[in-house]
Amino acid sequence: MNLLATSSGPVLARPGGFANLGPAFYTELLPTPLPDPYWVGTSASSARLLGIDAGWMARDDALQAFSGNALLPGSRPLASVYSGHQFGAWAGQLGDGRALLLGETAQGQEIQLKGSGLTPYSRMGDGRAVLRSSIREFLCSEALHGLGIPTTRALCMTGSDAPVQREETETAAVVTRVAPSFIRFGHFEHFSYSGQHDELKRLADFVIDRHYPACRAAVQPYAALLEAVTRRTATLIAQWQAVGFCHGVMNTDNMSILGLTIDYGPFQFLDGFDPGHICNHSDHQGRYAYQRQPGIAHWNLCALGQALMPLIQDSDAALAALDTYRRAFPEELAARMAAKLGFGQACEGTGRLTDELQALMARERTDHTIFWRRLARQAAGDGAEPVRDLFIDRAAIDAWLLQFEELTAQHGRGHSPDLMLKTNPAIVLRNHLAEQAIARAKLKDFSLVQDLLAALERPYDGHPAHADWAGFPPDWASHIQISCSS
Ligand code: AMP
Ligand code: MG
Repeated sequence: MNLLATSSGPVLARPGGFANLGPAFYTELLPTPLPDPYWVGTSASSARLLGIDAGWMARDDALQAFSGNALLPGSRPLASVYSGHQFGAWAGQLGDGRALLLGETAQGQEIQLKGSGLTPYSRMGDGRAVLRSSIREFLCSEALHGLGIPTTRALCMTGSDAPVQREETETAAVVTRVAPSFIRFGHFEHFSYSGQHDELKRLADFVIDRHYPACRAAVQPYAALLEAVTRRTATLIAQWQAVGFCHGVMNTDNMSILGLTIDYGPFQFLDGFDPGHICNHSDHQGRYAYQRQPGIAHWNLCALGQALMPLIQDSDAALAALDTYRRAFPEELAARMAAKLGFGQACEGTGRLTDELQALMARERTDHTIFWRRLARQAAGDGAEPVRDLFIDRAAIDAWLLQFEELTAQHGRGHSPDLMLKTNPAIVLRNHLAEQAIARAKLKDFSLVQDLLAALERPYDGHPAHADWAGFPPDWASHIQISCSS
């Protein structure tokens, strides 16, 4: 395989990274070349994060490197092993079945290819990812980042005409993902449940030293790690709930130890507000329904806590760390909902308004994104599209709006319409928008991928040129079925 000599491209040579953990943690192997690759999309903002020059990104070297056809300088690609609980049941050994960690940049960012071919952890899979699901992951990674929600990033995405068999024959694609770490709860579960406790300790020490250094000074560093992960996860889930994001497959192998959104599969932003909404067509029990996400995150944290027990040893300390969730999550969510209403802090009034509003929205299946954005615009003095028009029960919404006005009046300048505009996005990656970009991409027109990306990077701006992207979903959107197949 070609080794690229670059002066302006990324060099993957930061010592002491994941590769340093040793062979129990991974298998080194090269990506499987992707035939005749072409660009599907690039994120200039992710490139800047890595210090990659825009000129280099446009070169064929970059296209080949991010398709798995050439190696970046300093790269020693590896697939890591992890395990996990899937849909509540122990699934045993999993691992990077189609992802390869290329290495870590000087900025402390790991670069990973997803869809780069078979690994020892591919099990029944083919090691590939398809154009459809890769566009969804590429766009949504950058969309969540644009919303200010912690997530793995996407640097770019390439495609190929190479066929990949799913329910239908599709074509292959590779997404280049970027994050300070791709370590999952499942990595800890793997070493814990297989009795490899020296490796478990090495992993926990690595994560503490690299990502949670403050835990080192704690009396019980591993319990402190569990508490810190619990807090970050609580913050993440509060952000998902507030914006109406459903992940779809919250298995413990899809939970980031850094509290990042990771592994975009059948995710969905709510259209109409339905607390019981299940976005994953394969989730027959609704385990990962929108309103269950907070409880599932806690369940997953308990699985992490259980995995850490050989290190924490003291069950009271582990339970206390996990218990932080019971306070942290409601506090975070209340703060986010207060911000959506334009208040810098949650109070009794914002809590009551939120509860009453959500009950009304659930009854009417009010469009989540449109409601909140209209409310923000109305509060900012733009009443062109009145909020009340979104409801059938006008008396109920009028009564709610009156209470809202009373609360804003009480708070005077403490209420900020500007905060509402910066908290309630005009545009999110709804399923039908992704579907439109995918349909065009299948015809080799990638302009919508790039145009949507540009809008999703700035979701709190008005996008007058793309008013339809901020509008109601078309009727066919409710028939889109997204499964785990990717
Ligand atoms: P996911 O549901 O996408 O999080 O995947 C669960 C597990 O299956 C992970 O270990 C993945 O690496 C693996 N996997 C998913 N799809 C494939 C595929 N096409 N080829 C190989 N492994 C896969
Ligand atoms: Mg996964």
